[in-house]
Amino acid sequence: MKILVVEDEHLIANALKKGLEQEHYTVDLAFDGLDGYDLASSGDYDIVLLDLMLPKMDGMELCRQIRNQQIHVPILMLTAKSQLEDKIKGLNCGADDYLTKPFAFEELLARIRALGRRPQNTASEILTVGDLSINLSNYEVIRQKKIISLSNKEYSLLECLMRHANKILTKDQLIQRVWSYESDILPNTVEVYIRNLRQKIDKNYKVKLIKTVRGFGYKISE
Ligand code: CA
Repeated sequence: MKILVVEDEHLIANALKKGLEQEHYTVDLAFDGLDGYDLASSGDYDIVLLDLMLPKMDGMELCRQIRNQQIHVPILMLTAKSQLEDKIKGLNCGADDYLTKPFAFEELLARIRALGRRPQNTASEILTVGDLSINLSNYEVIRQKKIISLSNKEYSLLECLMRHANKILTKDQLIQRVWSYESDILPNTVEVYIRNLRQKIDKNYKVKLIKTVRGFGYKISE
């Protein structure tokens, strides 16, 4: 697994590289935001560890630009600040997780392993449940050869369910994953979106794919 570390403090960057290499990861370093952006844009990495405060381009902006390029590499934001606000901003700009400095190396490894396990959003990936498929690269949703058009949030919700096909997701989990930390999302909102989604992907078909698991949440399965 190949990791890009974007960190301007050479001591920290080199220590991370050394530690991660001992764990058999391949590590490249970038010491400022622009270099980091160039390397991350190559799409060559499995995970990017991104410092928040960087010369030339800060971590938040770098993250945003990477996502604008449709590069979906998992990004773990390293931040010296512990304020909740930074966490929220970090996640809104497209980071997958964050870690507050100073952190224990074991904690970093645990986060890297967790991110590495997440399904990769690679260029040609298609998720399928029964006769429904979604194409992660062009956001096309197809059921029985018919293209179904969804709103952004409906798509995100469907993608989340399909990434965890056959597994129950609670409303809280869906809120966290689909709406992340946007304000004022109530469990009720999930119900509304599930209802809309069903209208579009299930209503006109014999087999209903989205299941309500009473008292627990929802799942998608054949
Ligand atoms: Ca820094």
